[in-house]
Amino acid sequence: MKSRIGFIGLGIMGRHMSRHLIKAGYALSVYDLNTSAVEELVGQGATACANCREVAAASDVVISMVPDSPDVEKVALGENGLIEAARSGLIYIDMSTIAPAVSQKVAATLGAKGVRCLDAPVSGGETGALNASLSIMVGGDEGLFREMLPVFEVMGKTITYCGKNGAGQTVKACNQIQVAMNFIGLAEALVLGTKAGVDPAVILKVLQGGYAQTRVMDVRGPKIIKGEFEPGFKSKLHFKDLNIIMDTARDLKVPLPASTVAHELFSAMLSSGRGELDHSAVIQVLEGMAGVEARSRQ
Ligand code: NAD
Repeated sequence: MKSRIGFIGLGIMGRHMSRHLIKAGYALSVYDLNTSAVEELVGQGATACANCREVAAASDVVISMVPDSPDVEKVALGENGLIEAARSGLIYIDMSTIAPAVSQKVAATLGAKGVRCLDAPVSGGETGALNASLSIMVGGDEGLFREMLPVFEVMGKTITYCGKNGAGQTVKACNQIQVAMNFIGLAEALVLGTKAGVDPAVILKVLQGGYAQTRVMDVRGPKIIKGEFEPGFKSKLHFKDLNIIMDTARDLKVPLPASTVAHELFSAMLSSGRGELDHSAVIQVLEGMAGVEARSRQ
C-alpha cells in the first residue's frame, strides 16, 4: 500500500508539488496558514488538517515547503508542530530552502523521538514544480533517501544524494550563488547594451545562441525585456538564500567576493520595495543606477 503523505506549505511551489502527489495516487493531508491555498488542494482531492500536528498524526511521510528557517522550526518543533505527533516510523522531508544548521537541528531533535529526517531542497523554479521536473538535492541517511526515491520521482527529474543531514541545503546554497550571478550578469549585459543604443531583444537573441547562454536567460530573459516581473521566485526569498550563503561562508571562513555584491544588490531590492517581485527584477536596481530601462521596442 502507498504511504499516506502530509504536505505543509501550499504556495507557489508546494501547490504544484502536492497536486502531482495526488495524481500519483497518494492519500494527501494538507495544511497551510493560508486557508484559500488549502481549499484549492481539497478541491483536488486532499484532506484539510487544522495544524502540523494533525498532518503528522494522519501521515506516514510529512513534506514541508515553507519560506524560511524560522518557518521550518515552527512547523517541526513549535506548538502544534510535528514534534507533538512524533513517533517511531514517521518520516519528515523538508523541501524548503533553509540554513543547513537548522536542518541538522530539526533532524537531531525529531530523530531523538524516532522520526527519520531528510533535507531535500529543490531547484527548477515554478516551471520545474509545475512540470514535475525539479532538481532535488537530498541530505540525510542514504538508505532513507533510496526508500523515498519513488516519492521524489513524482515531483522531480534529477534527484541526487548529497551526504549527511544538511548536505542538501549546502548544495542548494551553492546553486543559489550561481543563479544570482546568472541574473546579475544578464542584467548588466542588457543595461550596458541598451544604454549604448542596441535593442535588448537583439542582445538576448545573440547571447542565447552562444557560449553565454543560460537557462535563466531562456526562461526569464523574454519577460525581463517586456518588463514582466511577477514571481516566480520572490526577491525576498533569494535575499534569504544569500543570507544563508553569507552566514555559511563566514562560519567556514570562505571569502565570497562576488556573492557579497549579489547580497548587496538584493538588499537594495528589498529596501526599495521590490521584495515581492521575481528575482529577475534585480535588473531594476542596475537600471536605476545606469539611468536606462532595458525594454525592447520589438
Ligand atoms: P511561497 O511564499 O509562495 O509559499 C510558502 C507557503 O508556506 C505559503 O503558502 C505560506 O502560507 C506557507 N507557510 C508559511 N509558514 C507556514 C507555517 N508555519 N505553516 C504552514 N504553512 C506555512 O514560497 P515558495 O516560492 O513556494 O517557496 C517555498 C520554499 O521553496 C522557499 O524556501 C523557497 O526558497 C524555495 N524555493 C522556491 C522556488 C520558487 O521558484 N518559488 C524555487 C526553489 C526553491
